[in-house]
Amino acid sequence: MIKENIGVVQENIKRACEKAGRDVKDVTLIAVSKTKPVSDIRQAMEAGLTVFGENKVQEIREKTEEIKENVDFHMIGHLQANKVKYLPGKVVMIHSVDNVKLAQEIEKQFAKADMNIDVLIEVNMAGEDTKFGLAPSEVPSFVKEISTLPHLNIRGLMTIAPYTDDPESNRIYFAGLRRLKDDINKMNIPGVNMDTLSMGMTGDYEVAIEEGATFVRVGTGIFGERNYSIV
Ligand SMILES: *Cc1c(COP(=O)(O)O)cnc(C)c1O
Repeated sequence: MIKENIGVVQENIKRACEKAGRDVKDVTLIAVSKTKPVSDIRQAMEAGLTVFGENKVQEIREKTEEIKENVDFHMIGHLQANKVKYLPGKVVMIHSVDNVKLAQEIEKQFAKADMNIDVLIEVNMAGEDTKFGLAPSEVPSFVKEISTLPHLNIRGLMTIAPYTDDPESNRIYFAGLRRLKDDINKMNIPGVNMDTLSMGMTGDYEVAIEEGATFVRVGTGIFGERNYSIV
């Protein structure tokens, strides 16, 4: 089932790239394995996937304890500063940086580990109360402020679009995130040249690819529905 699902998602990604005139190599599929067992991750690995997304530090710690193969974990969920200390060596990217205190703690913990870490700034494009992330207007000054932290590589922007049955309705948010990235690059902030857009989930990843996504984060479309009651 997981293998077949991955085939379908990869085919959809390919088609969206063709439609947008993009190279499929420029889009990375992140398999969002939160709440799912290691055995599911292994099935996805057998199908050729090497990049996984998780949203809880504890789950990342447990899963990286079991999985010693050469796969990448990305922290895609809301991150509390007091948990950052567990992440050096466990994740290759943090998608959810949205406040200075968190950025400073990431700097502190990765400096201590003598590692650099790729980060994305989380942007709340639709202004939803229920979502984390900065308002688009806050992002340029925020990027400028944290750009001086030497152990953070600011690679780009991430957004979680509204949940919807109509993926087209999220196109404006994906296009807006891409424009925000381009605008910030034009500011020529020393050390900042963003090349990454993490946007698009099971319901809307094709539209996100058409608008420039370089990472799509797909959970349900690969692993099936999540059952939060069993975790
Ligand atoms: C859970 C989650 C996803 C995956 O959502 P699906 O709709 O299951 O594809 C993507 N991004 C983030 C940040 C998530 O927390």
